[in-house]
Amino acid sequence: MNALMGRMMQMPLLISALITHAARHHAETEIVSRLEDGRTHRYTYRDAELRSRQLAQALGRLGTEPGDRIATLAWNGHRHFEIYFGASGSGRVCHTINPRLFPEQITWIVNHAQDRVLCFDLSFLPLIEKIAPQLASVRHFVALCERAQMPGQTTLANLQCYEDLVGAEDGHYAWPSFDENTASGICYTSGTTGNPKGAVYSHRSTLLHALAASLPDTLNLSAQDTILPVVPMYHVNAWGIPYSAALVGCKLVLPGPHLDGQSLYELFEAEGVTMAAGVPTVWLAVLGHIQDKKLKFSTLQRLVFGGSAAPPSMMKTFQRDYGVDVIHCWGMTEMSPLGTFARLKNGQSALGEESQRRILQKQGRAIFGVDMAILGDDGQPLPWDGEQSGNLIVRGPWVIAQYFGHDDSPLIDVGGQRWFPTGDVATIDVYGGMQITDRSKDVIKSGGEWISSIELENIAMAHPAVHEAAVIGCKHPKWDERPLLVVVKKPGTEVTREALLDFFNGQIAKWQIPDDVAFVDEIPHTATGKIQKLTLRKQFADYRLPTA
Ligand code: AMP
Repeated sequence: MNALMGRMMQMPLLISALITHAARHHAETEIVSRLEDGRTHRYTYRDAELRSRQLAQALGRLGTEPGDRIATLAWNGHRHFEIYFGASGSGRVCHTINPRLFPEQITWIVNHAQDRVLCFDLSFLPLIEKIAPQLASVRHFVALCERAQMPGQTTLANLQCYEDLVGAEDGHYAWPSFDENTASGICYTSGTTGNPKGAVYSHRSTLLHALAASLPDTLNLSAQDTILPVVPMYHVNAWGIPYSAALVGCKLVLPGPHLDGQSLYELFEAEGVTMAAGVPTVWLAVLGHIQDKKLKFSTLQRLVFGGSAAPPSMMKTFQRDYGVDVIHCWGMTEMSPLGTFARLKNGQSALGEESQRRILQKQGRAIFGVDMAILGDDGQPLPWDGEQSGNLIVRGPWVIAQYFGHDDSPLIDVGGQRWFPTGDVATIDVYGGMQITDRSKDVIKSGGEWISSIELENIAMAHPAVHEAAVIGCKHPKWDERPLLVVVKKPGTEVTREALLDFFNGQIAKWQIPDDVAFVDEIPHTATGKIQKLTLRKQFADYRLPTA
């Protein structure tokens, strides 16, 4: 075919364009950060862009090159924001690491990603000192602080001060242009088995995601907004909010490590926050605080709930008692992460309150750019009837095609197209409203963070009194899910609940240790000998954890 080609400019979609746009058109709009020591830092997009350029120069001076991974172990703050733009914008790759992982896992991730520079907030210094000898690829450790805050004594041989590095540069730096498919960031997600896996985002995927995330039926962002991402910048780029914020030029408020209900409420009020985003556990803490102290929000208009299912009662309370619009969304690390949003469609606002609520409680309909389908056990697509649930698959330009360092593809062929299986089980109704009903991947999500059941089972199985162990997620009012260890004891042995839980100490992060142990005579198996997690979850559906 002799197609007529468009006659429009060819401009790669690059992350640097976001920050240069914000600096030109929203130069005086503020970015406010609460620092680790409680002080408030305030500057503008103009300042942030200049310092991102200075950082790009500094990364060059440190001897790093395009493609090199610049890792962060940091809270949501302005310096982390600068690394997002300075590292990616200069062609390097911003690798955000979840500091809540077990030190061995962090070590593994840094080595796997071959990080060259590791930037960290001072609260992570003890952790980094501990793992530094194992971090073979890291050439420079950079403390995200001022000179006066630099630790007097440290075992880190080549520790640099971020403010010194940035301050030494003049900012005469032109953002380079390159292929929009170049890697911009990496985020590792805890797998069900074995080691975490890295999702590698590109400039193109990040920009398309940022555009889609800003739309009215998505995060609904405008230059008039003041946005506070509670969702960490180490978790799927804070759902892409730093990029979308620069795109629309809204004021950005970054809470640092101060994530309790009172601190967040005070920040909402002090900075005039109109929208905030995070996992339900965070909103439970905020709700508890305002109910307890009989407070109201003076500026907050909407809260975005994602990462775990939003409890309907909490959504209702925020809406009814505080006039806050609650937006429920679903996504995952492999999807940059946004996939669906529960928003009313044309005509649906005429529905009664209960009907509307039923629509808004679901995980929602796919945003443009994400296609989804559900498959039955036979691999065939199921109808969108809101009844039949199946394995949820997705495709789109910000959906993963391959994990970092893995040659094999995680994708499957359905109807002649390539799809990513999410590991979630869902129904989709006739209006396209998706609702998660279960999970086929064997993991537990506690307060928005993953716990691998298999890892816990492996530890339990190493105990001399354990014949067989299975770990399932049990409903928990605060954390959504917490792990329950189900154990069949070896004949003739004795072990207590306490001794078993004690056995996990030092082998896994403390918050990942199961909340309770249930001793049973038998664990259900499939014909091929696999543990039937679904049956086990049903068996313990009403189990009340002692921590609940
Ligand atoms: P992550 O990659 O850590 O962002 O986790 C993604 C997974 O979290 C999804 O595959 C779901 O299992 C779960 N998830 C995310 N959002 C929701 C939601 N709104 N409701 C239920 N589960 C969710």
